[in-house]
Amino acid sequence: MVETVPGLEKHTADMKAWRHDLHAHPETAFEEQRTSDVVAEKLKSFGLEVHRGLAKTGVVGILRNGEGPSVAFRADMDALHIEEQTNLPHASRHAGRMHACGHDGHTTMLLGAARYLAENPNFHGSIAFVFQPAEENEGGGRVMVEEGLFEKFPVTEVYGMHNWPGLEVGRMAMRPGPMMASYDVFELTLTGKGTHAAMPHLGTDVIVAGTQIVNAWQTIPSRNTHPVDSAVVSVTQFHAGDTWNVIPASAVLRGTTRSFRPEVQDTIERRMREIAQAIATVMGVEASFRYERRYPSTVNTADATEKARRAAARVVGAEALDLDPMPSMGAEDFSFMLQKRPGCYVWLGAGPSDGGRNLHSPHYDFNDEVLPIGASYWVRLAETVLPKAG
Ligand SMILES: [Zn+2]
Ligand SMILES: [Zn+2]
Repeated sequence: MVETVPGLEKHTADMKAWRHDLHAHPETAFEEQRTSDVVAEKLKSFGLEVHRGLAKTGVVGILRNGEGPSVAFRADMDALHIEEQTNLPHASRHAGRMHACGHDGHTTMLLGAARYLAENPNFHGSIAFVFQPAEENEGGGRVMVEEGLFEKFPVTEVYGMHNWPGLEVGRMAMRPGPMMASYDVFELTLTGKGTHAAMPHLGTDVIVAGTQIVNAWQTIPSRNTHPVDSAVVSVTQFHAGDTWNVIPASAVLRGTTRSFRPEVQDTIERRMREIAQAIATVMGVEASFRYERRYPSTVNTADATEKARRAAARVVGAEALDLDPMPSMGAEDFSFMLQKRPGCYVWLGAGPSDGGRNLHSPHYDFNDEVLPIGASYWVRLAETVLPKAG
């Protein structure tokens, strides 16, 4: 049984209107100017102290109630480069950009909680409401941390949330340990000696070499990492050649890898390089390999997860909590904040994921039904992590 915070209902219509406005005006990585203005203006109007400029468009609102510990609640504000196909009245008015991951909903729920908590400060201490840019691909969370988020706002814990299609409305999921994977990218350039396709013995073939490398890389998850560890090596691009009868002189392969533990990440990077170099040598082509670490894995700490569990149980009921969900091989840049502070990242049930209702689909729209549930979670979390004495 979902029990939203009494008193939040009267803000639900406002939250819906804010969400639709944000949805209609999506902005992508580090360009969330309008969004940032809207967030800052609302936080000010609720009476919070507002700080701007971290990671360009980041906004931090501080709400204090007496002397006490500080925690951070974080939402992401950015949209994706997707052409929206929902035909909704609040559909994107910005060509080629779309809130297809629900960050409009995340921003709205955290704003709703900030407003309620400013009016009903049933907690003791300070809350930093962190609105970050560029969660998708560009690591706005990392930039906020690098630019001194936790020095300027010395919080002891950080909490994050993502709406989760595929998990029923009225359910939430969380677990101590990894929730989401690390996200790395790679590029391999092979250079050989191009030749007539009918006279392969006169050249060195980057396509034959590249295909062997792609296959051999698949032995990394199966032969080099511990069978119980998770690892994904996905080649997603293989560019070579222009015509039927020429063996090209170069090929470029790109893709992504996923894992949960830094040791596995190290193994993947090392083995990819070794395999590419060795096969290239055998095949008489040259290999140039670049591996870039994008996001670490999102790892919850036990103590904060227990607090998140208690807060979530007050909203959706203990029986509606999934406390051992299968971690996702997707990635999340909240991980950079979790590397610096203990905390917990939870999934908020958003209903079915079929029929275009999944994240990053051009048909996706954040489920407004969950706005009061997510905002209630933040309110209960504030009461749980910053309890009033007595
Ligand atoms: Zn996303
Ligand atoms: Zn997202």
